[in-house]
Amino acid sequence: MGSLERLAEIRVRIAAAEREAGRPAGAVTLVIVSKTFDAAAIVPLLEAGERVFGENRVAEAKEKWPELKARYPGVALHLIGGLQSNKVHEALTLFDVIHSLDRESLARELSKEAARGLALPRLRLQVNTGEEPQKGGIVPLEVDAFLKDCRERHGLSVEGLMCIPPADEAPAPHFALLRKIALRNGLSALSMGMSADYETAIAYGATEIRVGSAIFGERDHA
Ligand SMILES: *Cc1c(COP(=O)(O)O)cnc(C)c1O
Repeated sequence: MGSLERLAEIRVRIAAAEREAGRPAGAVTLVIVSKTFDAAAIVPLLEAGERVFGENRVAEAKEKWPELKARYPGVALHLIGGLQSNKVHEALTLFDVIHSLDRESLARELSKEAARGLALPRLRLQVNTGEEPQKGGIVPLEVDAFLKDCRERHGLSVEGLMCIPPADEAPAPHFALLRKIALRNGLSALSMGMSADYETAIAYGATEIRVGSAIFGERDHA
């Protein structure tokens, strides 16, 4: 089975999960995670009309996407991986949405770029719901204060939250926690759910799911 067949199957499952959760059709945006896959693998999806893609590295996105974006108008490219402060300027020229705002220094860098007149991507704050030391993200107890800082000190408008639950735990409690934090902060975007757990994420209110290997097949490397 090729990526288009797998994608069609996933679309059916997304629609079913939306229905089961009592959510309107189309409530969930599928972000097709194309990291590690080359342009030749991505083009069939673009030809089929897909326009929402995710990458986790600025350098890799820079190699693939300027040309693809020029050939296929209307692409929304999402940065789902960590962003180094010295790559912010470059990221702003490539990405339409950033899911990994995860620290004060990055907020400061983004607001500096905005002050210079650059249009900022839509922003999601990454929350480290499992409080894992190796993972990026704001720990749950600090999210409200960080959001306030983003708004009041840096003039940033954050639309939503993102999380990556710990690999060895049931994801549902993490999705529920993310939703709870979003609700109390009046945020509408919930970026959660990957190949293994996107249906659960939809049941818990995900508005964006990030799916790679279930569409492209297993990756050779991270
Ligand atoms: C790689 C990645 C995904 C997609 O993972 P799959 O399991 O291949 O669907 C989603 N989110 C983030 C942050 C990723 O790095």
